[in-house]
Amino acid sequence: MTPLLRQLFDHHSSTYTYIIGINNSALIIDPVKENVPQYLQLLKELGLCLAMVLDTHVHADHITGSGVLQLETGCEVGSPKESAACCGSFVFEHKTELELSGLKFQCLFTPGHTNDSYCFYFENPGWVFTGDTLFIRGTGRTDFQNGSPDTLYESLHKTLLTLPLSTVVYPGHDYKGMTSSTIEEEKRNNPRLLITDKDDFIDHMNNLKLADPKMMDIAVPANLKLGL
Ligand code: FE
Repeated sequence: MTPLLRQLFDHHSSTYTYIIGINNSALIIDPVKENVPQYLQLLKELGLCLAMVLDTHVHADHITGSGVLQLETGCEVGSPKESAACCGSFVFEHKTELELSGLKFQCLFTPGHTNDSYCFYFENPGWVFTGDTLFIRGTGRTDFQNGSPDTLYESLHKTLLTLPLSTVVYPGHDYKGMTSSTIEEEKRNNPRLLITDKDDFIDHMNNLKLADPKMMDIAVPANLKLGL
């Protein structure tokens, strides 16, 4: 059975949320709290029962909908071993294999944007949900929440770029209207991946001079409790 994939966009934070469905079961990756009613409506319309929710990391720019979804549906919520967040129903770590109604996928620990960042890799059909580790033609920043350009470089080059070239990349955000890419396309065109020297990459990331996300002081403490 071919899994279904829906990509939903939150305009306030430019966040992508993904609903994956198979055999009437659904997984949501990176839900935004304000949009939970939309997800529940869509699940109903698609005839899907929510089985699991995962966040790619503790977000600083929006509040996660995982806690509300757990309360409303009784779904499972996964938390990375490395995360300071409480209240999940199971813990995963690097290379943990999870399953959604027969659809297997792997958790890949990719720290750098934060120290608890994960990507979720579906070998079949060839999808990777990259959170804020890899964007289309960019990457997440590394200047707060225990981020590190050094570990981001390692996560990009030693984990993500070793996936099959045809793997479709679904990022956690996009600010320019792009929706998906592939590992090959990013390898060739992503300016940050084209900086092949690690010290140059660290230097580049340490000199971005970005403003803090507007929601940071509210979102991070809330997300340590599944947004509740
Ligand atoms: Fe983030």
